[in-house]
Amino acid sequence: MPRSLIHSAPTGVELSHIGAVLLDIEGTTTPIDFVHQTLFDYARSRVPGFLKRKWDDPEVRGDIARLNAEHVSESPEPSLPPWRDNPGGVTAYVQWLMQLDRKSTGLKSLQGKIWDEGYRSGELKGEVYPDVPPALERWRNQGLGIAIFSSGSVQAQRSLFENSNAGDLSQFLRAYFDTTTGPKKEARSYARIAQELRCRPAQMLFISDVPVELDAARKAGMQTALCVRSPAVAPSDGPHQVIHSFDRLLSPKSSPPEVSPPMPPIPPEADAAVSAWMRGRGWQVNPVRWQTEEPNMGFYVWQEEVSSIGKVHALWLDEAMIRHLKAKELVQVLERESVAEEIRINYKVRIEERGAGYRVSVVPRKSGAFRGVE
Ligand SMILES: [Mg+2]
Repeated sequence: MPRSLIHSAPTGVELSHIGAVLLDIEGTTTPIDFVHQTLFDYARSRVPGFLKRKWDDPEVRGDIARLNAEHVSESPEPSLPPWRDNPGGVTAYVQWLMQLDRKSTGLKSLQGKIWDEGYRSGELKGEVYPDVPPALERWRNQGLGIAIFSSGSVQAQRSLFENSNAGDLSQFLRAYFDTTTGPKKEARSYARIAQELRCRPAQMLFISDVPVELDAARKAGMQTALCVRSPAVAPSDGPHQVIHSFDRLLSPKSSPPEVSPPMPPIPPEADAAVSAWMRGRGWQVNPVRWQTEEPNMGFYVWQEEVSSIGKVHALWLDEAMIRHLKAKELVQVLERESVAEEIRINYKVRIEERGAGYRVSVVPRKSGAFRGVE
């Protein structure tokens, strides 16, 4: 991992070099109604009986202790039920928390246990959109790692996918993360997830229906896709590519998935000169990698590690340039063609040899197509 596949997204925006996919649940893999109605209603109606039955269960006692601690720190208000250490009393507080949709750790843990019972008995089935199971299987077969990041507890996430309406999907998932890793709107949570998955953020794709979560992932250097499940909704132009389903996302262009041929040797002085040129402009650069774009067209790619502005700068140099030019000449071309300016504006610039000259092409942010600048 990661494998060097060339990917195409439905919007035409290229997602290059993805090694792992990170998925939100609500509004992304699963209809929001399933969580807000089916699951919440289920927990609401089962809380009293569950607490009565499990009152002495050590794990449930742990949740009750947590709820008690949270209750102590509540600011007093008329609707807050008083704390009573019995099933009826705890039920009243739990119902109050649910009514206000409070993000309480004790509540989430207790709900997770109630849902788990429901899944085990077959009363609950985790709902996923129909395009989700085939995509999970396809990505797994492509060698991509797949993980979940959701505000629901890890136990609730695992139960949902183990007992989904499409069968046990947990076989496709490598890891689950909840808010104990960090808030979904903070970049450091995504950096931590990448670290745990041993993946560079730039090689991860985070998919969510909430733009601020995507902004945070972007800040940590991840690639992002905004999942808009209603096809009628066309969000205004934003920084994140928009998808309506997982259907064609990260599909290899040819089947079976093609693996890029190994990188042809690059003279160390050429590598050093280009890296130094990029670093000299304030960009932290990943080690050079190899990417084939079209048949018989290969590029050495120097890509920024983490972008400060949420977009990753990259310089693509045609193999022929490396073969024909000395390190010093390479840097001269980069200087002469104002490539730094192009990268700053467009984030990805490629330079190809054309006869005796060079052709600079840039990726415009909107169309995803290459525009030639002779
Ligand atoms: Mg969501």
